[in-house]
Amino acid sequence: MSQPAEALQDDLLYKRYLQALARHGEPEQKQPSPGHVIRYCHTCGQRAMFRLDPEGTWYECLHCKHYD
Ligand SMILES: [Zn+2]
Repeated sequence: MSQPAEALQDDLLYKRYLQALARHGEPEQKQPSPGHVIRYCHTCGQRAMFRLDPEGTWYECLHCKHYD
């Protein structure tokens, strides 16, 4: 009922791979601070960070200052 040593080794390597992936992740997936969102701006055509205004109605593009 025991697994071959090679299969165990593969399993271990795969787990390490997943752990490394979880640790390092993608830099793009960094979460913006509260009240901020990263999205595509149709005005400046860039992927930019938007800031929610104090009234919570509009998002301001921090790149071109356009309200959307
Ligand atoms: Zn913009």
